[in-house]
Amino acid sequence: MTASKTFDVAVIGAGVFGAWSAWHLVRLGQRVVLLDAYGPANARASSAGESRIIRMGYGTDELYTRSSQRSLGQWKSLFQATGQQLFHETGVLWLAGADDSRLRQTMATLKRCDVTFEAMERADLERRYAQVSFERVTRGFLEPHSGVLLARRAVALVVEDAARMGVEFRIAKIETPTASSHLAAVKCSNGETFAAGQFVFACGPWLGKVFPDLLGPRIFPSRQEVYFFGVPPGDIRFAPPALPTWLFQEDEYYGMPDIESRGLKIAMDHHGERVDPDTQTRIVSGENARAVSEYVVTRFPALRNAPIVETRVCQYENTSNGDFLIDRHPQMENVWLAGGGSGHGFKHGPAVGEYIADRLLNKGTAEARYSLRTKETVQHRTVF
Ligand SMILES: Cc1cc2nc3c(=O)[nH]c(=O)nc-3n(C[C@H](O)[C@H](O)[C@H](O)COP(=O)(O)OP(=O)(O)OC[C@H]3O[C@@H](n4cnc5c(N)ncnc54)[C@H](O)[C@@H]3O)c2cc1C
Repeated sequence: MTASKTFDVAVIGAGVFGAWSAWHLVRLGQRVVLLDAYGPANARASSAGESRIIRMGYGTDELYTRSSQRSLGQWKSLFQATGQQLFHETGVLWLAGADDSRLRQTMATLKRCDVTFEAMERADLERRYAQVSFERVTRGFLEPHSGVLLARRAVALVVEDAARMGVEFRIAKIETPTASSHLAAVKCSNGETFAAGQFVFACGPWLGKVFPDLLGPRIFPSRQEVYFFGVPPGDIRFAPPALPTWLFQEDEYYGMPDIESRGLKIAMDHHGERVDPDTQTRIVSGENARAVSEYVVTRFPALRNAPIVETRVCQYENTSNGDFLIDRHPQMENVWLAGGGSGHGFKHGPAVGEYIADRLLNKGTAEARYSLRTKETVQHRTVF
């Protein structure tokens, strides 16, 4: 067994949560090693894929609205500092059906948090977005300054910037730690060890595999399929600025305009079956492809014969209600658990990383909703 040098912190997992944790920790003067079994935002990770929505609205939930606001500022600063433009300000359009209570609650929260938005009745929506069918939609609102993060490339950039500041990045699969109270080092599958003062396990949908007794019953990885539809040639109605990112939570569908000519993105937010992130098939099911194609026609009649030009299969790493899990391990006092992004975590990477760094360095206050004790073994989704 070879022993490596000692670090202040070893972060296991270079998805969006681990990458931003390492970034903030090194900025605060910590010697950090970042370890990932496959690589930053690798094809199996929950942070993989082309794009993720960053929106401010979360119903009545100020916690996540404020976290999104804080995060968008940090994403933009990073992109500006590195000269990479990985945020598209497409705007995010919220749509409501017969029951518009969540829409109203969201607008009230945005007002309290000073987020700009523009409310629209159905007639306004139809005038402004003639390429969309607003069947069953009563009203909506637009967050004009929200949009899309180019996910995979953004995580790679965070890791690159963290490495520039001194984080050591290594490909390594870490085994389940077994200390009874204080963990001295983690062990890799090849026998190498990494010693550190503290450890952050930001293993996303793998958390239940790394800590099977503790988190196996508390992290619910669900299969999620994403589709890109080819737009008609020469047609710019489905690209920004003509079409914003949109979500209609009643239908459990959301989508993005044609960004970087990848096609119109459509995804189902409904939780799919439980899956193993190492082994689940990444081929979409014929049944879902048919359902999504039918849905596209109902919302975008001009895309009736649009071909599916790309698909992706990923997994959400849900907690019982959708609140993140960021807490100390109950037995190993220098081990931290970070994950439970639950289908909405990507945008929050910067604020989550900052929170984790503060907790490790005994700064800031603990958020009760992120605690392990609030994570149950039966799902009741309340955060969307
Ligand atoms: C289809 C889809 C759409 C989504 N849409 C949005 C959206 O629009 N907006 C939004 O904000 N969020 C969205 N999300 C949620 C968001 O992407 C995730 O919550 C977030 O990316 C989770 O990041 P993570 O760092 O916790 O996990 P991951 O990205 O999965 O990272 C975990 C890492 O840990 C590594 N790892 C695991 N075990 C080990 C081990 N033993 N040793 C070493 N390394 C290990 C893995 O290789 C992996 O790289 C979506 C998710 C999916 C799947």
